[in-house]
Amino acid sequence: YYGADGEALGLIGVSRNITERRRVSDELKVSETLLRQFIQHAPAAIAMLDTKMRYIQTSDRWIQDYHLAEGDIIGKSHYEIFPDVPQRWKDIHQRVLAGAVERNDEDSFIREDGNTEWLQWEARPWLKAGGEIGGLIFFTKVITEERKRADALADALSLEKELREAAQAGNHAKNQFLAVMSHEIRTPMTGILGFAELLVAAPNLPEDCQSYAKTIATSGESLLRILNDILDFSRLEAGGLQIEKTRFSSREIVRDIHTLLQPGTNDKHLEFHIAIDDATPEFLWNDAGRIRQVLLNLTGNAIKFTTEGSITIGLRPAKEALESGAVGVDFFVKDTGMGIPENEIDHIFKPFVQADSSISRQYGGTGLGLAISKHLAEFMGGKLTGRSEVGIGSEFIFTLPLSIPEGALSALPEAGTLMDKTFAGFHPLRILLVEDDNVNRSLILLMLRKLGYEALVAKDGIEAVEVHSREHPDFIFMDLHMPRMDGFEATLAIRKNEAADPTHPHAYIAALTANIVTEDRRRCFEVGMDSYMNKPIKRTLLAETLIKASNGQTVSP
Ligand code: ADP
Repeated sequence: YYGADGEALGLIGVSRNITERRRVSDELKVSETLLRQFIQHAPAAIAMLDTKMRYIQTSDRWIQDYHLAEGDIIGKSHYEIFPDVPQRWKDIHQRVLAGAVERNDEDSFIREDGNTEWLQWEARPWLKAGGEIGGLIFFTKVITEERKRADALADALSLEKELREAAQAGNHAKNQFLAVMSHEIRTPMTGILGFAELLVAAPNLPEDCQSYAKTIATSGESLLRILNDILDFSRLEAGGLQIEKTRFSSREIVRDIHTLLQPGTNDKHLEFHIAIDDATPEFLWNDAGRIRQVLLNLTGNAIKFTTEGSITIGLRPAKEALESGAVGVDFFVKDTGMGIPENEIDHIFKPFVQADSSISRQYGGTGLGLAISKHLAEFMGGKLTGRSEVGIGSEFIFTLPLSIPEGALSALPEAGTLMDKTFAGFHPLRILLVEDDNVNRSLILLMLRKLGYEALVAKDGIEAVEVHSREHPDFIFMDLHMPRMDGFEATLAIRKNEAADPTHPHAYIAALTANIVTEDRRRCFEVGMDSYMNKPIKRTLLAETLIKASNGQTVSP
């Protein structure tokens, strides 16, 4: 320090501890490097720009995403690097530099190579220490690949939808085709089977002619069975199967099958037994027709594949409950036939499969029987299983749930009356037959005549309505498909006339249908029919329907 005259007097030492400042500045340096590193290596495209839109720093990802050369951009203007930036984006930049935060989740731009690039972005201002805006920060994400994947997925989904619709249309077309085919094939079959049946029963027919007629009848029957199998299978495939539940005696079904198939076992000199365990409940509530179909198929197979020994069909309480928890009843068919190898037993339930290729050559068959039976068993709430030993025999077990709702109707009464000319006396009915096909018309007239009826005739719907209003028949057999006016329209007109005149009695109308489509059957009931009969018409079915009509019973759709 100095005196007043400027002379140096001594020394003053001042020291300041700047450790803290050094530490803070070092730390700041560290955190700045850290921040730089953080931005540079961030797995996202980030860019920091000043208020003049000049680059201060970017992440590596930014350089990659926008195909830039490293080191080329710091200090350069964004608009210099991207000369084609659209005005829309320049406006956004200005808004952000004025303090706004902007974002877009689905934006796009066109690259120099002409390809469109999709991106998500966010732009926000960054602030200096004093609080003023120092520039803007971009965060962007190129989503072109995601977009492409999403577009591909959407395309695939719409293609799948198209294919599904085409498949549905195809399925519909298939069902239509089957309906038409079944109609076309069943109609002439009615003539063949019906007349063969009458011929077999005709008196004074030379013996050889009788055997020819029998051959026509049995060949026709098996043709019809194959046709039915194929139709059944397509219907199961299309999910169009309907079951009609009634109360029925399980024992009676077993006895029926026995009676029906006995001639076949006799021909092959096989013993044919019935084994009914007394502990089995007698009545079931299910589709008796379908159960018969399954048992006929199983028993038919047993006879087909057995050359010596015996066949046994029977009933017993099921050992185990069904999967649904229901108590079950077992129908079983046991044979002492050729058996099925262990590795084949599961496959034979698949469609068109036969245990070995020589089977079809030797025994015929389509390989559909068991597939249909298994489907049917499951559809009725039950199951079908098989066990077998080669050279010893096979047993097929068809289990059904035992469930009879309270107050279920009792089974329909048996036909019971003799099928001859006395029949009409017990069941007096004035019958009108409406059928355009000559062969079918004469066949049904003949069958009716054998039961003692002289029926009125109409050749189409228009004639049917006329005859009905003139003659007031009690019973009408109504063909569905006819020229000029079909059976549905005719029924509607008849019901309308009946409603208009209370003295007009209600005629029982039974549809004659070769068309087994469920929809048609439903329509029959919708237009006011009481019952339906599938062609080919059998004498017993004809008689049963007439009995129902004279008792005033209808069949549920
Ligand atoms: P199909 O009898 O028309 O060939 P199924 O589906 O009814 O068709 O039977 C499939 C196959 O299962 C038969 O071809 C046969 O090989 C075998 N099979 C069925 N039942 C028996 C049986 N009781 N004994 C021996 N093999 C049988």
